Amino acid sequence: MLRCAAVEGLVRTPRLDAAEIAAIADELEHAPAEEVLAWASHAFPGRLVLTCSWQRQSSVLVHLVATHGIDARIVEIDTGLLFPETHATRDALVARYGVEVETLLPRRTVEHQAAVHGERLWERDPDRCCAMRKVAPLERALADAEAWITGIRREQGASRRDARKVELDPVRGVVKVQPLVDWSRRDVEAYIEHHAIPFHPLHAQGYPSIGCVPCTRAVRPGEDERAGRWAGSGKTECGLHARATA
Ligand code: SF4
Repeated sequence: MLRCAAVEGLVRTPRLDAAEIAAIADELEHAPAEEVLAWASHAFPGRLVLTCSWQRQSSVLVHLVATHGIDARIVEIDTGLLFPETHATRDALVARYGVEVETLLPRRTVEHQAAVHGERLWERDPDRCCAMRKVAPLERALADAEAWITGIRREQGASRRDARKVELDPVRGVVKVQPLVDWSRRDVEAYIEHHAIPFHPLHAQGYPSIGCVPCTRAVRPGEDERAGRWAGSGKTECGLHARATA
């Protein structure tokens, strides 16, 4: 486990400034994923949250957390609009690793949202829909957290190209821990295959990135991994991963 002066300082000082976070990120840039997670578990005992969308990165991270004794709550945000295969993937990972998953729901059901804001809000105002169905539950998930593990990878698209293994969430003030930023899609696939980890079946059907049913399509050859999310709308992120450089 990495133990540097900055890490020890982080244990004593839950809210670091951007320069301190950047120094830790420099130190961890070439560290393997399990070492990044071990550092976070040591630095934020009882205050570390892993959010899972049940895409292939979630499979890897659940495996790493479960097999390396990482002290993290595992949380999912169920928008009410997920693919049935997404729930099945969660269930398969829970059965394999025996982990507990905390499910956070939007304040309104899909039907209640339609009654208040009109049918198919995601077609008219996807930012508002994501704010209510994804971002607001995330805020609740992170309310008591100091650090948040995500499965972001740089290769996923322009908005994630500068992501670091450790960075400050400029909106929420928590530390984001991103052990897979330098993994390629092939790295993830190979790791899953090597360890026989359950993974989302839609990945094998042309869906490299999977969110809610109405806002996800398969990608075409040559498109980037997230081209099937909110396709044609100009929207590229749901608002969970706000970045200072984005
Ligand atoms: Fe709504 Fe689409 Fe965002 Fe899901 S991804 S919360 S359906 S806008």
